[in-house]
Amino acid sequence: MPPSEQTYRSMTDAYAVFGNPIAHSKSPLIHAAFARQTGQDIRYTALLAPLDGFRETVEAFRDGGGRGANVTVPFKEQAFALATRRSERAEMAGAVNTLSFDGAGILGDNTDGAGLVRDLANNLAIGLAGKRILLMGAGGAARGVILPLLEQAPAALYIANRTADKAAALAKGFARHGEISGGGYDGLPGPFDVVINATAASLAGELPPLPATVFAGGALAYDMMYGRDTPFLAFARSREARTADGLGMLVEQAAEAFFLWRGVRPETRPVIDMLRAA
Ligand code: NDP
Repeated sequence: MPPSEQTYRSMTDAYAVFGNPIAHSKSPLIHAAFARQTGQDIRYTALLAPLDGFRETVEAFRDGGGRGANVTVPFKEQAFALATRRSERAEMAGAVNTLSFDGAGILGDNTDGAGLVRDLANNLAIGLAGKRILLMGAGGAARGVILPLLEQAPAALYIANRTADKAAALAKGFARHGEISGGGYDGLPGPFDVVINATAASLAGELPPLPATVFAGGALAYDMMYGRDTPFLAFARSREARTADGLGMLVEQAAEAFFLWRGVRPETRPVIDMLRAA
């Protein structure tokens, strides 16, 4: 006798992404593509958590059988607090974007930095060892990528932020992990081989105050924002820098989460191509 629909349901592991807003999220598409490609039996949905009800929403999902979750704006710090154990990269970032529910505990990880480094290395063929990197921004996105960037042994990593003190404090916190310094945009110690925009400036159609000399010859300009051209990428093109948006990072951080949950690493290239074509 064929198993009932109920049996199929209970065999399918449930995952979700929590955010507010969340309707725009591409994560369900990405994870559905990974699951098809790897033959993993999972269901992945986007769930809106109320701004004052993140913990309750996630706990209800877990209690209903959920196996893991991704977390996006504005809940990454709350996810950090919810986790009962955390990876070192999550601990250093002070933010969690991936939760795994194993038994009674909740493991918190942060896959954003690994996603960025993989996109740079595998999709854009940019090795970071010995490079001079400028990371703009001192918010959650920037904090999440600092340790993974330093692990690539760049010659120098400079954090620049509109509020200079935040960048300086951030750099101080990571000092034992590599060659890092931070401050404002005045007197940037450029030029840089890789310039990464982890600010929310692109969301507002704005450009951080960069000098025209910020890019070294053959530099890469990387905007974590995706889905539209940004003033930063336009500026980079006008200075003859190579450009990339954050779509590859989005897919790569998802692949890292999928790997944490399922122990299988999906192919990312076809999924990036699918999203670009859409
Ligand atoms: P936050 O709001 O936490 O951080 C905002 C940062 O941007 C702060 O450092 C702020 O500076 C700076 N900033 C804001 N406006 C300007 C401006 N006009 N000029 C200069 N600096 C500015 O945002 P997140 O860190 O969460 O996200 C940043 C970006 O990264 C977003 O566009 C997000 O979509 C993207 N992102 C992409 C991911 C991907 O997978 N591709 C993953 C995660 C994030 P100050 O401290 O002075 O206020």
